Amino acid sequence: MAKYKLEYIWLDGYTPVPNLRSKTQIKEFASFPALDQLPLWGFDGSSTQQAEGRSSDCMLKPVAIFPDATRKNGALVMCEVMMPDGVTPHPSNGRATILDDPGAWFGFEQEYFLYQDGRPLGFPADGYPAPQGPYYTGVGYKNVGDIARQIVEEHLDLCLDAGINHEGINAEVAKGQWEFQIFGKGSKQCADEIWVARYILNRLCEKYGIDVEYHCKPIKGDWNGSGMHANFSTEYLRTKGGKAYFEALMAAFGEHCEEHIAVYGPDNHLRLTGLHETQSIDKFSYGVADRGASVRVPHSFVQNDYKGYLEDRRPNSQGDPYQIASRILKTISLVPTP
Ligand code: ADP
Ligand code: MN
Ligand code: MN
Ligand code: MN
Repeated sequence: MAKYKLEYIWLDGYTPVPNLRSKTQIKEFASFPALDQLPLWGFDGSSTQQAEGRSSDCMLKPVAIFPDATRKNGALVMCEVMMPDGVTPHPSNGRATILDDPGAWFGFEQEYFLYQDGRPLGFPADGYPAPQGPYYTGVGYKNVGDIARQIVEEHLDLCLDAGINHEGINAEVAKGQWEFQIFGKGSKQCADEIWVARYILNRLCEKYGIDVEYHCKPIKGDWNGSGMHANFSTEYLRTKGGKAYFEALMAAFGEHCEEHIAVYGPDNHLRLTGLHETQSIDKFSYGVADRGASVRVPHSFVQNDYKGYLEDRRPNSQGDPYQIASRILKTISLVPTP
């Protein structure tokens, strides 16, 4: 038997963006525990905007477990927040609203800034660095600095060690801005892994005295904002598809534009302006290989008789991937398959 450090992670009740919270519980197991060996646990919901002080207990229900390479016998345990009965989802529990669909696949591209002393890493104390141009996928000290690369690499290794399905990383268009991509099969897996990857990044940055800025437009002016493009497909889209179905799907996306924007992250009007590879927030459009459209249709999708995946470019870096996946699958479910 060994004592395992189980880090229970959950989303609090703050709006419009939930914060990550976590606490450790020690339990003995013969080997690395499976999900169904993990107990429910409680927390004080009155400190996280999830309950009143008089009746403050909320429950944590483990939904995914990952090895934590930063700790001896450590595990990261993603949890859903439940009511005191342990079975009713708490109103803040977006994950519980995702339609179950093992055939749904998501790939999220998480962009973010690294921040120190209230400004992006590499920005001078006064004014701005050289304009955008060389930073995207850039190399060299003047483009990416020194510490950023170290953090990004360490983050990648920690995520891979945890079994998170990273697909890649790149330096982004603004100085101090980075991206990682995660892909997952099943309607909840990718969203779980994005939250845990965010958790690992936030925690890693503590020791460097650096914060992760997820806001979608932290610097005004001619600097790119941060998005979290949602690439998605269903079994039907991958294997049947077709132009008529695709057009019906896009019509439904257009019709429910406002409901999508409502969960695609706060302050998105600052980012979705029609500039910087975005469509305006109040318009819905789609286009082949069009990075100025709301939904980009990959070339391969059209060449493959309208089969494959689509990229919704509107979700922002601060959006909750649970709510985003939930809304996308809800809209898809409204469109009858021929
Ligand atoms: P870009 O920056 O050009 O938009 P990326 O390579 O950063 O492209 O991201 C593409 C994303 O699409 C990846 O996260 C990948 O996992 C995802 N993806 C690829 N195929 C599928 C699919 N069939 N269903 C859902 N997502 C997919
Ligand atoms: Mn990308
Ligand atoms: Mn990007
Ligand atoms: Mn993209």
